[in-house]
Amino acid sequence: MAGNGISIVAPLYNEENLVETLYLRLKNALHHYPDHEIVLVNDGSSDKTLEILTRLAQQDPRLVVLELSRNFGHQAALFAGICAASQETVITMDGDLQDPPELIPALLAEQAKGAEVVIAMRRSRQERGLRRVLFELFHAFFRWMSDTPINSSGTFGLLGGRAARQIIRLQEHSRYFPGLRNWIGFRQSILWYDRDERVAGKPKQSITRLLKMGFDAVFSFSYKPLRVSWLVGMVISGFSFVYGITLLVLRINNINVISGFTTVATAVFFLGGIQLISLGMMGEYILRIYDESKNRPHFIISRKISQTGEEQNES
Ligand code: UDP
Ligand code: MG
Repeated sequence: MAGNGISIVAPLYNEENLVETLYLRLKNALHHYPDHEIVLVNDGSSDKTLEILTRLAQQDPRLVVLELSRNFGHQAALFAGICAASQETVITMDGDLQDPPELIPALLAEQAKGAEVVIAMRRSRQERGLRRVLFELFHAFFRWMSDTPINSSGTFGLLGGRAARQIIRLQEHSRYFPGLRNWIGFRQSILWYDRDERVAGKPKQSITRLLKMGFDAVFSFSYKPLRVSWLVGMVISGFSFVYGITLLVLRINNINVISGFTTVATAVFFLGGIQLISLGMMGEYILRIYDESKNRPHFIISRKISQTGEEQNES
């Protein structure tokens, strides 16, 4: 973070229909901030996104294009951009224009009032159908699950230099940016806005990807699932103990106990289910431990396209 200006960071994956609009709207919004840099991360797009970005970067010394060596996913691409930002203030946003660039001055105004982190929080949501239901459910569930207080924000927001450096220090692999941003603390302020519709194209995060991100959010920020299975285990064991004693007492007193196949079957399936769920939950943590222990880089940059450091290869 060398300069005192602003870096705008956005990940892009197969967004050929809207990169140019994104760029123009960003430029327009940054009109009064000559000291800016735009870092657009091409997350292994297979369409013309990179081509368009390269052309734009050749015309604009303030545009830096990072090309990742393959598709690493939204969170990794965003992180790559934050790491590459050269200015003190970092503004993070999705590249599909659901986060309106016109809000950037408002973010900066909040920062000027003394906030180190500004979170743009959507007042409304444009998604419909299953996606919408999933988003709403996820955020309600996540709020309940999380061990640290959390809000239903997305990528959009501002990081002051100190906050950005702390985000970079957090080297965990299953990254969930809004959670990390909450975790670092500092003076955080919230800016409400209406989330726009995607300008063009389809969402690039498939439902499976979104679910994975949801899982990362829960398991990276909460120990509750582990504790819940423990609790459920205790309750069921307690219940079975009382049940067993009751049966024994009935037997001893020669009261006819029905040859309960139903009871046995239910108990077996129920307990089997609980055990599998607990194992699965433990698995979620273990695979994250495994992931962390491999300590692979979060992303690989195959090329950085900018007029200052022309087309250097990095790793
Ligand atoms: N994105 C990315 N890599 C991916 C998937 C998405 O860089 O593997 C980018 C995408 O181009 C967009 C942003 O991340 O700029 C958010 O993605 P999307 O709009 O598909 O997600 P949603 O709005 O459904 O969360
Ligand atoms: Mg989107």
